[in-house]
This record gives sequence, structure tokens and C-alpha cells, in this order.
Amino acid sequence: MSETTGIDPSVPPSGAGCVECDATGGWWFHLRRCAQCGHIGCCDSSPSQHASAHGRASGHPVIRSFEPGEDWFYNFQTEETFEGPELAPPQQHPADQGVPGPKGRVPRDWRFHVH
Ligand SMILES: [Zn+2]
Ligand SMILES: [Zn+2]
Repeated sequence: MSETTGIDPSVPPSGAGCVECDATGGWWFHLRRCAQCGHIGCCDSSPSQHASAHGRASGHPVIRSFEPGEDWFYNFQTEETFEGPELAPPQQHPADQGVPGPKGRVPRDWRFHVH
């Protein structure tokens, strides 16, 4: 498998937040970006784990962190973390979104909901 399998650097992210959580009013801990189609989903520590669900449903194998200051890639199939190419901007969610985020939708007892 080549380093660029599952990666299309020309595709921008789907938005600033998890696609499914934004649709349902949910919240997340960290965000991951599908390196193939740009889908933004929430990480496996988040209540709904939409990023890995997207990977399973779509067959897209590679995610990249969408967190400020993080640029690692991860392949669900090989379970390897690696460094990949620069993707279409933005590289991360807005800093004022908060972690966990988004501000205003995170419950006070969020620590009891993360995995
Ligand atoms: Zn989500
Ligand atoms: Zn995808």
C-alpha cells in the first residue's frame, strides 16, 4: 500500500465541525478529517465516534487530525500513524470552537461522556 492510498490533498474539509454532530446538535472531544473525501468527524474519545464510523461505512482508510497543532495521519486498515502531504486548507478547526467543542453544546459533565 502506498503512502498516498486514501489521500486526496485537493479536497477541502467538509466544514468546521463533525458533519453528523452538527446535524443532530451533538458535541465532540477531538475532530478527525477523512483524507479522501474531506468528511469531518468526531474522534473515538467523543460520545458518537463519527470519524471511525465514516471510515467503516465509506471504506476510506485514512484520517488526519483536524486539531490545531496536530498534523498526523492514521490508517484504519494498517493501524499506523504516519506523516502525509499538506491537505487543502483549512488544516484545523477554528481555535475559538473550543476543546471539547463546539462551545455552547458541551454539557457541564462532559468528562463522564468521553470514551
Ligand atoms: Zn460526531
Ligand atoms: Zn471519507
